[in-house]
Amino acid sequence: MFNKILIANRGEIALRVHRAAHEMGIKTVAVHSTADADAMHVRLADEAVCIGPPSATDSYLNIPNIIAAAEITHADAIHPGYGFLSENARFAEIVELHKLVWIGPKPEHIRIMGDKVEAKRTAAGLGLPLVPGSDGPITSIDEALKVADEIGYPVLVKAAAGGGGRGMKVVPDAASLETLIAQARSEAKSAFGDDTVYLEKYLGNPRHIEFQVFGDGNGHAVHMGERDCSLQRRHQKVLEEAPSPVISAAQRDEMGGIVANAMAKLGYRGAGTIEFLYEEGRFYFIEMNTRLQVEHPVTEMVTGLDLVREQIRVAAGEPLSVTQDQIEFRGHAIECRINAEDPRSFAPSPGKVTDYHAPGGLHVRVDSGLYTGYNVPPYYDSLVSKLIVYGSDREGCIRRLRRALEEYVIGGFKTTIPLHQALLEDPEFLSGDYTIKWLEEWLAKDT
Ligand code: ADP
Repeated sequence: MFNKILIANRGEIALRVHRAAHEMGIKTVAVHSTADADAMHVRLADEAVCIGPPSATDSYLNIPNIIAAAEITHADAIHPGYGFLSENARFAEIVELHKLVWIGPKPEHIRIMGDKVEAKRTAAGLGLPLVPGSDGPITSIDEALKVADEIGYPVLVKAAAGGGGRGMKVVPDAASLETLIAQARSEAKSAFGDDTVYLEKYLGNPRHIEFQVFGDGNGHAVHMGERDCSLQRRHQKVLEEAPSPVISAAQRDEMGGIVANAMAKLGYRGAGTIEFLYEEGRFYFIEMNTRLQVEHPVTEMVTGLDLVREQIRVAAGEPLSVTQDQIEFRGHAIECRINAEDPRSFAPSPGKVTDYHAPGGLHVRVDSGLYTGYNVPPYYDSLVSKLIVYGSDREGCIRRLRRALEEYVIGGFKTTIPLHQALLEDPEFLSGDYTIKWLEEWLAKDT
C-alpha cells in the first residue's frame, strides 16, 4: 500500500480524499493556491505545498508544479479528485512517466471517453444502448440535414469535447439547423479548442440516470447501482438521489449487469460513471465520466462502500474489495449541493463565514471544508458543502433531510439552503415525479 498520496485538488473533495487516506494509514500532501492557504484540507494534510497564484490555470492546472510538489514530498501516488486535471489523459501519462501512481483509470480510457463521439462508438461496441444520432462527427450541412431528417426534429447539436452543458444547441427544425450548428461550433471552439460537433435526437422529457461502475483493470468489474440526477439547472446537477424513484430492482440488475460487463470487457480500471437518459422505460447512453463524481456519497450511503478507499486499493494493485453478489442496496440517500450563491438569482456569493454550525445526528453526513472565520475565495466553483442524508426509505430520508437543513447554519453569505428547503416541500418532488426539465420550470413559475 502507498505511504503518501498527493491530493491534486481543493475544497470538499480534497478533504474527502484526505479522510479516506488517513483511515487507511496513508499520509497526505495538500497542494494549494495562495488563495487556499487556510483551507481545511491544507490544515489537515500532513504536508502542504503552495503551487501558485489563485487562478486555477496557474495552480490546480499547473502540471509542472504539481509534479514537482509530488517529487519534493516523496509522494507515491496522485489522486486528482473531480474537475481540474481529473479527466486529463496527458496529465495521467505524465504522472506515470514520473514513476508516480495515478489513482484513476488507464489514460487510454480517459482519452476515449473524453471525446464523446469516440465514447459513443465505444459504448455501442460494448453493447450499450445509444441516443439515436449521427454516426460520428458532422462534416457537412447536407449530411446533417439528412441525419436530422432520419432521426426527426427536434435534434440536439453537441460538442465532441463537451462538458458542463457547453456547446449544446436544440434545433427545432431544418430551417435553423445550419445556424445552430455554426453557433455550437464556435461555442465549442472557444470553450474546448475543438469545434467537432455531432447530432443526437433531442429527448422530450427524460430523466438523468447514471450507473456507478468499478473495474480492477484486469477484466473484473462491478456496478454499484444507479443515481438519479434529474434535478438540474442549466444542465448542472442540484440534488441527487439513490436509488432512483422510478427504477425497479429488476431494471437495476439488468442495466447494472450490462454496464459492468461492458467495463469488464474494456478492462476498465477504477471508478467510473456511465450516464444515461431514461425515457419511457428505456435507457440511452450519453457519456461516461472517468473519475469520481460529486454525487458519489449517495452510492456510499446505500451500499456501505467507501469509493475513495476502493479507488486507492485498485490503484495499489489490490483486487476490488467486493464481488457483485456482495453488493447490497439498502435504504435511500439524497445529496443536496450547497453553493455559495443567491438561492433565487444564483449569483455567486463568496465571502467570510461568520457563523457555522453543521447538522449532525444519525445518518447525516456533511462533506465540506467550511469553518467559522474561513473565507470562501471567489476564484473557484461555488460548491461549499454537500449534505448527504440516509433513511430506510425515501420518505424517511426526506424527513431527516428537512430536519438537517433546518439545523444547518452558514452565516456571512448567501447559500442555496433555502432552495433545497423549498424543493423538499414540493408535491411533485415528493412523489418522485420529475424529469431533467422539471427544476427549471419550477424555478420559472416560482419567481
Ligand atoms: P455535458 O458533458 O456537457 O454535461 P451531457 O452529455 O452529460 O453533457 O449532457 C448534460 C445534460 O444535457 C443531460 O443530463 C441532459 O439534461 C441534457 N441532454 C444531453 N443530451 C440530451 C438529449 N439527447 N436529449 C435531451 N437532453 C439531453
